[in-house]
Amino acid sequence: MYKKLTLIFLLIPLIGKSQSASTTYWQQRVEYEMDIDMNVKTNQFTGDQKLTYYNNSPDTLNKVFYHLYFNAFQPGSMMDVRSLNIEDPDRRVGDRISKLSDEEIGYQHIKSLKQNGKDVTYKIEGTILSVRLNKPILPGEKVTFKMEFEAQVPLQVRRSGRDSSEGIRYSMSQWYPKMAEYDELGWHTDPYIGREFHGVWGDFDVKITIDPTYTIGATGYLQNPDKIGHGYEKEGTEVTTSDKPLTWNFKAEKVHDFVWAADPDYTHTTAQVPNGPVLHFIYQENSENKDAWERLPEYMVKAMQFVSENFGKYPYEKYSFIHGGDGGMEYPMATLISGDRNLNSLLGTAVHEMLHSWYQGLLATNESLYPWMDEGFTSYASSVTMQYLMDPNSDADPHTNSYRAYYMMAESGKEEPLTTHADHYHSNRSYSINSYAKGAVFLHQLSYVVGQETLMKGMKRYYHDWRFKHPTSSDFIRTIEKVSDLQLDWYLEKFVYTTDQIDYGIKSVVGEGDATYVTLEKVGEMMMPIDLFIEYEDGSTEIYYIPLRVMLGEKDVEDKTAARITESPWPWTYPTYTLKVNSKTSAIKKIEIDRTQRMADIDRSNNSLDLKKATKAYEDTTK
Ligand SMILES: [Zn+2]
Repeated sequence: MYKKLTLIFLLIPLIGKSQSASTTYWQQRVEYEMDIDMNVKTNQFTGDQKLTYYNNSPDTLNKVFYHLYFNAFQPGSMMDVRSLNIEDPDRRVGDRISKLSDEEIGYQHIKSLKQNGKDVTYKIEGTILSVRLNKPILPGEKVTFKMEFEAQVPLQVRRSGRDSSEGIRYSMSQWYPKMAEYDELGWHTDPYIGREFHGVWGDFDVKITIDPTYTIGATGYLQNPDKIGHGYEKEGTEVTTSDKPLTWNFKAEKVHDFVWAADPDYTHTTAQVPNGPVLHFIYQENSENKDAWERLPEYMVKAMQFVSENFGKYPYEKYSFIHGGDGGMEYPMATLISGDRNLNSLLGTAVHEMLHSWYQGLLATNESLYPWMDEGFTSYASSVTMQYLMDPNSDADPHTNSYRAYYMMAESGKEEPLTTHADHYHSNRSYSINSYAKGAVFLHQLSYVVGQETLMKGMKRYYHDWRFKHPTSSDFIRTIEKVSDLQLDWYLEKFVYTTDQIDYGIKSVVGEGDATYVTLEKVGEMMMPIDLFIEYEDGSTEIYYIPLRVMLGEKDVEDKTAARITESPWPWTYPTYTLKVNSKTSAIKKIEIDRTQRMADIDRSNNSLDLKKATKAYEDTTK
């Protein structure tokens, strides 16, 4: 009896422990080995894919799913019809998919698929391949899938494709059957309609056999540089050339995707970042873009150093800027950007895409669910980086354009909440403004709530805690809560989950003896802490800081040039708040809510009061 009891008692803490362990973070893992044979005459290729899949989830899997992105580039595909029906189609897509001929469409055909050596049954619907497993994959188990496939590269429409308008032969993104991600929310099997990606973390070993005149830029490290040449060989190495196809072998570890591009007319240069990666520049040179591409390396070396210092160190030893099909798009260890641009445009795009190495590449948020965390955070960090590169002594706010776009959307009445799935936004415009602009405002405004230094500390902590993982918006805000020692769930709930707006105003100013009573008013639905600036006739400034009660704390002093007086917190259910300024009204020149304008207040007309101009309305009422 005694022994039995001991055993039961021993079991209790064990059960408790395993329960809490099951709620901790886990993620799946993949190892791809691929062998590709590219026919540059037919634009078709064959592929052998061996995929080792690790089920690190606590669940038994009976099915798995792959993305077949190239199937989107066919008339009648969901991507085609979406573009034909949305109110503001992306001009790069428009009706172009509907007009592709049989030789111009893209496809991925599965020739065979085996799980641990045995054929499995599968079904293809549009861009999703569903596989019913012979044997379920138990938690902690790994299986091997072997696949043979054939594919045709579509004519360049969006992101991937052949023969772009600038003459790039192959932009190869989303080019292979790619395992969908499975996480605590289940499978992510969004059909590809032209926008977002989400992949499983793992390793890639890719062999590409192609015509020997083609230069390839890709994710990962080239394993046989001295045999390949094309600018990858060690300096001084004699590379033997032949007219037989070359097999390029790239390996990448700890990434969630693999991109490559190939063209016979690429120029290839490199630049070493001190204490950082080697940057590769792979572009098709012409008289118009030559100057911009030649000057790009000096800026990108500086940019890589700046970003590594401020947002976390770039962990790989290589990054490639590759002249690709259209616009700019981020991939692990590389970007594809269209290249016929002037220096400013090329630089802006290159900085933005490189910053995606942090916000999406390393901090691999699910783009469909949190497009504002990859585009918005990238926009925020690239505005800061561009200001450092172009105008380092400026104290201008680099985020004003993001605020302007957000205000425009908020006033239009067509704003959708940031929680909207990227594919489900009613218009491309509403997706873009939310993801890029409101996402950047989210961060800059958060610096107003927690303090600029604390936010930057938080961005680094976020990088260290969540790189090589799939963070969510809650993971991010939790990180900022840790570094700021403030409660911030309200900020996420209001600014992300709803379209509630911020509007605070100065309601009244009343003088009474040697004091002045300022009454503030919460007009908008969203609550915020208040920095109230008081500028005196003698030129001095004070900041009356009113934290929100729900923050359960205060931000650190930010502006060391002005004295800060911390007031009692504002419980947000109170529509007004009155504070006492220890000064005669006549000594006050100006009162202003949030002089830094980081708070996205949709009506700033009631934010400041020039007392000299407004003497009538705000004169002392008690003599
Ligand atoms: Zn972007």
